[in-house]
Amino acid sequence: MTEARIIRIPLRFANSYLVAGEKTIIVDTGDPGFSRGILRAMQKNDIKKSDISLIFITHGHIDHYGSLFELKKSIDVPVAIQRLDAPYLNQGVQAPLYPVNPVAGAVKLVGKNLKVKKRYGIKADIAFNNRVELEKYGIKGLILPTPGHTLGSASLFLPDGRAITGDLIVRKHLFRGKPCPAPFMHDRSRFNKSMNLLKGRGVKVIYPGHGGPINAGDIKPFIRIKV
Ligand SMILES: [Zn+2]
Repeated sequence: MTEARIIRIPLRFANSYLVAGEKTIIVDTGDPGFSRGILRAMQKNDIKKSDISLIFITHGHIDHYGSLFELKKSIDVPVAIQRLDAPYLNQGVQAPLYPVNPVAGAVKLVGKNLKVKKRYGIKADIAFNNRVELEKYGIKGLILPTPGHTLGSASLFLPDGRAITGDLIVRKHLFRGKPCPAPFMHDRSRFNKSMNLLKGRGVKVIYPGHGGPINAGDIKPFIRIKV
């Protein structure tokens, strides 16, 4: 099995990704109303609907799963999310937001009434606890829980040191600035453990939920992030 390609699809605010190997996995689907952007990116990269084997949602925030309902109408493949965030996806609501600073607190207030319409809620086919091996979905790699930002956050790891990590790490100003922990943090000690996991697995490039790729070496220090 050859190394997979990672294709980033910036959907205005959040990223979706295509992980394309023998089959293709879609990672996250952006806010509601953006499924066409994903379909367009597939077309552009010569990926057919029948090539898609799995949709993996990194965590239960609406900007990461909002277009799943509409996407599932044309791509009916299993949806995977970590068990602890599965209920939010199912109900079409936000996983709890724990702001770490006043700015994030204000963002939370603004987004307080932001609910995905109930009909957008989707029951995950795979609500996993631990690892999900991806060979059977045509990708050499695996998904592992990386909690911190939410309790049910998870990341997709490729063997060559690339990882798609949802909102574990973002940039200071979301699209630019130094890499840092996301401004919403449910559990700091689990976040630290997740960062150790990334380090232990030799992650070199992080594909975050917002903005372009982050060189893991730019996170200083990689495992002792002060939060
Ligand atoms: Zn999030």
